[in-house]
Amino acid sequence: MPELPEVETTCRGIATHIVGRSISEVRVNNPNLRWPVPVDELQTRMPGQKILSVSRRAKYLLFDCMNGHLIIHLGMSGSLRIVDQNTPADKHEHIEILFSHGTVLRFRDPRRFGAVLWTDQAPDRHALLASLGPEPLDDKFNTEYLYKQTRNRRCCIKNLIMDSHIVTGIGNIYASEALFHAGIRPGKSAARLSRESCSRLVIAIQQVLTRAIAAGGTTLQDFTDSNGKAGYFKQSLFVYAREGDNCLQCNNIIKRKVIGQRSSFYCPNCQK
Ligand SMILES: [Zn+2]
Repeated sequence: MPELPEVETTCRGIATHIVGRSISEVRVNNPNLRWPVPVDELQTRMPGQKILSVSRRAKYLLFDCMNGHLIIHLGMSGSLRIVDQNTPADKHEHIEILFSHGTVLRFRDPRRFGAVLWTDQAPDRHALLASLGPEPLDDKFNTEYLYKQTRNRRCCIKNLIMDSHIVTGIGNIYASEALFHAGIRPGKSAARLSRESCSRLVIAIQQVLTRAIAAGGTTLQDFTDSNGKAGYFKQSLFVYAREGDNCLQCNNIIKRKVIGQRSSFYCPNCQK
């Protein structure tokens, strides 16, 4: 599943190709995504409009037009690519946004858990975005904020940081990695975190995500390649999916524990 760094890299990669471009046509090859694609709305509202900017909120990509906004979520397996309009679409490319200068932005999603929506109002007022917590790389996500959010919480810290109402965009991989770097066990009760632990965790989350975005910038620059797959960035993971391997920091064995139906990986020696 694309996580925040992959979505951010997609955002930056796509923006360079389409900002300032005029939309000529929208083709919907399959409207059955996570929610039905609003075919009529896209086809009546988008043609003739220019893309003013592309931004990211949580894991949503926002394409701002003069009148209205296109919202795309990559879901489990979604990706975007930009190609020449003569390139045939493959069977998983469900949405095509054609530009008047001859290129096309294609949304590919084999598992169809992604979403393509349209809104006339400000995107942050859309039902899907209105109740989201702060961005992890924003100043609003700081020690005091996290400390406050963890008070009187019965849930474990890993589930708390993966809750998009608390902080957006932290998925399973980066939650596991950040908790390792902060020296906190994923199953630890959120309410038992000290202010100092919250501080280490905020820093770890921001560093892990910043590094991943930087890695993405070098591995996924080209959104006009033949496959356009949003794969995971080739960065060194310390604990994620390393059950039974040696900890890169202390050589102990990495353990796996299922928390909230998701696998969590940690080093019992480095994380308390
Ligand atoms: Zn260790």
